[in-house]
Amino acid sequence: MKILFTASECVPFVKTGGLADVVGALAPVLARQGHDVRVMLPLYGQVPEEYTARMSHATDFEITLGWRRQYCGIEQLVLDGVTYYFVDNKFYFGRSYIYGLGGDEYERYGFFCRAALNALTKLDFQPDVIHAHDWQSGMIPALLKIQYAHLPFYSGIKTIFTIHNLQYQGIFGIREVQDVLGLGDSLWTNDKLECFGCANYLKAALVYADLITTVSPSYAEEIQSAYYGERLDGLLRARKHQLYGVINGLDIVDYDPTTDKRIASTYSADDLSGKAACKKALQEELGLEVNPDLPIIGMVGRLSSQKGLDLVDYIITDLMAERVQFVVLGMGESRYVNLFSWAEGEYRGRVAARFTMDAGLAHRIYAGCDMFLMPSQFEPCGLSQMIAMRYGTVPIVRETGGLRDTVLSYNEYTGAGNGFSFFNYNAHDMLHVIQRALGYYRDNKDVWTLLQKRGMEGDYSWDRSAAKYVELYRGLIGEIALRDPSEPEDIPEAEAAVEETPAAETPAEEAPAAEAAAAPVEEAPAKPKRTRKAKSTEEAPAEEAPAKPKRTRKPKAETKAE
Ligand code: ADP
Repeated sequence: MKILFTASECVPFVKTGGLADVVGALAPVLARQGHDVRVMLPLYGQVPEEYTARMSHATDFEITLGWRRQYCGIEQLVLDGVTYYFVDNKFYFGRSYIYGLGGDEYERYGFFCRAALNALTKLDFQPDVIHAHDWQSGMIPALLKIQYAHLPFYSGIKTIFTIHNLQYQGIFGIREVQDVLGLGDSLWTNDKLECFGCANYLKAALVYADLITTVSPSYAEEIQSAYYGERLDGLLRARKHQLYGVINGLDIVDYDPTTDKRIASTYSADDLSGKAACKKALQEELGLEVNPDLPIIGMVGRLSSQKGLDLVDYIITDLMAERVQFVVLGMGESRYVNLFSWAEGEYRGRVAARFTMDAGLAHRIYAGCDMFLMPSQFEPCGLSQMIAMRYGTVPIVRETGGLRDTVLSYNEYTGAGNGFSFFNYNAHDMLHVIQRALGYYRDNKDVWTLLQKRGMEGDYSWDRSAAKYVELYRGLIGEIALRDPSEPEDIPEAEAAVEETPAAETPAEEAPAAEAAAAPVEEAPAKPKRTRKAKSTEEAPAEEAPAKPKRTRKPKAETKAE
């Protein structure tokens, strides 16, 4: 199959977030499976010279954007079986920043979308499918259907659009976008391009793409509700029969505790002894009391409200009243920098906070901690919880988006689970679950080790996700019939029965805790499967759920004063 990816970033060339990881990992996996995969990217000034030096000039042409005629070069590089095309225009992309500062994002990415489509005839590459990612590529499905589909070369091309984070939509003035892309007035109604009085590149893709995906099944469900829908939930509900959730994979070579050169000692699920050495080294490195018995709770990620840091703020004094150590690595909002700086001073030798981008330290934290906290307000997929599990660090997460799809809370009756989770966005629910985890850590090492091993043995590779994307591509070009994503997936009855048994209602006699604790690892699935439909109707039916999750009971000032 011939597939064209279009994206604004991709490792190893340019990265500001998870989008780059996904595009950079998925494309080579598909190429290894024998597909002709090509990736179209802007040629930013930030692309390292080691790559620009190896590029060859494929073609160039002019692009008309309203009254402007702009040069468009296509530079080419083949890496790992994937052909990368770089859209070259120094005025748009040769700047000192990647996103945001110039006030002409609509023009830069309008140009990029136009260039990606026009380049196809010049390169004589007629893809079966264009897979466009995030709002910067959002106008591609729209332009293709509106302005190109009548041309024989383009008429058979199908489009699939992936939402990596619905919060970022590319919202601009209609007149500006019309000026650049020449889209007539009749297209600016709310069933087409108009969106609350504005142009919205992401919405354009949601209307015109043949299929839509996002990066986890739960997030695909959540964004159809008002709370998570970022004002596009109505449209997403209207397209629910074409909206799929495909969970991201991990770079399992980079994140491998059996070979990782950045950690103090390597280890595996069969022999966890090296993890103790990693913990000791982390305590030494961060100036924490070196004590193997004190559990370390870690966090790595952007210091943004999305990550649920307000909950940590509310209960930090209660948390530190436990015998724990707490480690944070991240960059972001100053209020969280202040919070963790304060905590580091207040709890010397027990809290360490580092506000920098440091991949090596991130690895050492994943390896050296006992627990990994990720109480996100929303989480399209989340990589950190998967990385933590791969390093035998037990995740404590809020049940949202990809966190809900990858972490199953330990059930003491059935023995199922690979971590701990809570549902409401509530600080004391979180604290209670942390205390529950601490209980197992201290008093039930068998269960703890079981959870560590299950996490480490989970399948986080890209192969499974890539197979799902291929299935969608094949469905798009009519090779197979696709399942309607709004219908529940078929799950074997026995498995569904176990999953649906609420822990609190199961009589203890039916499955004594001691037996469950002794349950062999093989009996539980390494990667939890969910009965998503059942769960969502049970816990929060879209129509009946409160618009916002419940807030915590204790006001912050009170908590701090304690
Ligand atoms: P998001 O994409 O929302 O930022 P994810 O959990 O999907 O969150 O991915 C974040 C990735 O970035 C993880 O691999 C995490 O380890 C890494 N990361 C985040 N902050 C830092 C940091 N300060 N230093 C090193 N790595 C970081």
